[in-house]
Amino acid sequence: MQEADGCDRLTNRAEPDRIHGMRVAPKSIILMYHRIVATSTDPWGMCVSPTNFSGQLEAIRDAGRPMALADYVRAHRQGEVPDRSIVLTFDDGYLDNHEQALPLLQRHEVPATLFVTTGNIDSEREFWWDQLETSLLTPAMLPDRLELSSPDGAIVWDLGTARAYDDGQRQADRGVKAWQAKPGGRLAFYYAVWKTLWPWPVRVRDEAVARVAAWAGQDPIPSTARRSMTSAEIRAMGQGGWMSIGAHTVDHLPLDVHPVDEQRRQIRESRKQLEALVGEEITTFAYPHGEYSPDTVRLLREEGFDSAVTVEHKLALPGSDLMRLPRFGVHDVSGDEFRQQLEQWFDLAVGDGAAHAC
Ligand SMILES: [Zn+2]
Repeated sequence: MQEADGCDRLTNRAEPDRIHGMRVAPKSIILMYHRIVATSTDPWGMCVSPTNFSGQLEAIRDAGRPMALADYVRAHRQGEVPDRSIVLTFDDGYLDNHEQALPLLQRHEVPATLFVTTGNIDSEREFWWDQLETSLLTPAMLPDRLELSSPDGAIVWDLGTARAYDDGQRQADRGVKAWQAKPGGRLAFYYAVWKTLWPWPVRVRDEAVARVAAWAGQDPIPSTARRSMTSAEIRAMGQGGWMSIGAHTVDHLPLDVHPVDEQRRQIRESRKQLEALVGEEITTFAYPHGEYSPDTVRLLREEGFDSAVTVEHKLALPGSDLMRLPRFGVHDVSGDEFRQQLEQWFDLAVGDGAAHAC
């Protein structure tokens, strides 16, 4: 029986590794997921298909010890993290986490933490990068010039060869990440606009996104598939015992570039809203875009958080800082490929993670 096999292997692997009689620090992997959905367009590499996710959960159970983030934090404090612990996290709060991820987590009995960006709860509004994707990556001819008002003055793009975009080009961009786009193409233009808007104050950013939609002549009707979860769905996520809830700000800002007051508002309001929703204390946080400053960490502590996750690609070790826990982003690969990936991560030099401990 597969479960028993998994347990046997775990028993062996839970023993700390010993090399030449020396005890080696237990290694843990914290995984970052965003969406569980089969899609044809994924410029950020955020989507894992349900089939692949199911295979990945099997691989996780076979390769290590799945553990809830709260249990990991507790064990880390007590210096008792079992070797090969694997912690699952989801960022943002897309609907598919409720519809696709939760039933699979329950079936495979793997716990996870969901970091919710609260600004779109109970709203049809899509995340701003998705709105921008509809505006700029729907196959269509665009005007030759885009001008936006930035906090520092006007910004102008002359589209040139990026003006035209047809189904064939869209097809060719499948599988290409936005940051790897060929210069001069539409995907590269999308990335340039995204990169420009990314650090702007929320109101200015959202106005610019609306302006781009009007300029592109794209229908502003949001896609149901890309909406955030409702209050009821988030509550349901937190109730089954397999998904706990953490905060991810109100508006998904890279916090470090914003004033301390705005950072505090983003942290405090998202926490308050989620606590009211799930009726439990929210003590863990994911930095949007993985960005933070020493002020951000201080604010999180002041606001009652005891742990936070980054996007640093490292193993979590006994010396890792609980307010800067590293995570590995997961891609849309099969269970077998993921099994190998997990072993490669576990084989990373311990020094890689320890170097970041403080
Ligand atoms: Zn996020």
